[in-house]
Amino acid sequence: MGRPMSWKILIERGNLGFSSAHFITFDGTCEPLHGHNYGVRVEASGPLTPDSYVLDFVVLKNIVRELCKEWDHRFLLPLNNPHLRVTEHDTAWELEYDAENRYLLAKTAVVPLPVDNATAERLAERLAKRIVERLRERNQGQSLARLTVGIEETEMQTAFYTLDLSPPTASTAADEQDTETNVPAHGTS
Ligand SMILES: [Zn+2]
Repeated sequence: MGRPMSWKILIERGNLGFSSAHFITFDGTCEPLHGHNYGVRVEASGPLTPDSYVLDFVVLKNIVRELCKEWDHRFLLPLNNPHLRVTEHDTAWELEYDAENRYLLAKTAVVPLPVDNATAERLAERLAKRIVERLRERNQGQSLARLTVGIEETEMQTAFYTLDLSPPTASTAADEQDTETNVPAHGTS
């Protein structure tokens, strides 16, 4: 049996993106709070459906737009950052890196994410997983082989994450069982 043939579709530019605030911790420092107009591109590849397309462009664009809207005009909070003390209050999130870097943010202005740092790489990973969840909910894209998300932070900086969706072999299935065990119980996007 030969290797299955593969096609690829790409959605990018237009209104695919979100404007959000974040900061990154790195090398023992914490960036000041700031924002980006993030651009999003999504590539999906795999065999053709019986109707000769990889995935309905409209379905994919709608899902990506919906997910971008959840992050738009909000602060992207990395819940699992080992250098940040994160406290959940009734109506606010309190973050403390050190005495000079402390924030109290209204919950309505925050998207809590189950990631260690709100880097473009992690945002691409998170978005890719959420897109696949939404596709599964709609029974779309079952035969996709790969989905890649690119998050453009500035015009010259884009990070990509690729999710391999081909059916796992018996040996890799066991390794992948607990990939998402760190997701906290409260509502995260
Ligand atoms: Zn930044």
